[in-house]
Amino acid sequence: MTTIRELYQETIIDHGRQPRNFGALPEANIHHEGFNPLCGDKVHLHIHEENNIIKKIKFEGSGCAISMASASLMTEVLQNKSMQEIEKIFNEFHQLVLGKEADEECLGKLAIFAGVAEYPARVKCATLAWHALKSIFETMEK
Ligand code: ZN
Repeated sequence: MTTIRELYQETIIDHGRQPRNFGALPEANIHHEGFNPLCGDKVHLHIHEENNIIKKIKFEGSGCAISMASASLMTEVLQNKSMQEIEKIFNEFHQLVLGKEADEECLGKLAIFAGVAEYPARVKCATLAWHALKSIFETMEK
C-alpha cells in the first residue's frame, strides 16, 4: 500500500522536475509574482481570466521542489475554475498544510500536501503560489 507520505514524495519529485503549465501565456490578462525570502522561491503567475473564471493559468519561476510542485499542481487543479471555487480550495489547502482538518474531496490530488504538515518550515514553500493567487483576488475585489 502506498502511504500518503510516499505519494507526497513521489509527487513532489515528479512535479518539481517536470512542472506542468510552466511557461509564458500570451493571452494572460493578469500577472502576479510571489516571493518566499526564507527559501528563495519565486513564482510568477500568468492568468487568463474572463467573467471571474480562470480560463487558463500558467506559471514561471524558480525555487525548491516543493514550491515548484505546489505551483504545478495548483495550475492543474484551477483550470476553468471560478473565483468562488478557488477561494474554497485555497482555504481547504491552507488548513491541510497546517495539519488541520480539510475537505479532501474538494482538494482532489492536492490532498497529498498533507505531507507538508510534518515539515512546518516548508509550509511557506507549499503555499507561495497560493498566496500569490490570493493577493490577486484581493486587488480584484477593490
Ligand atoms: Zn522553498
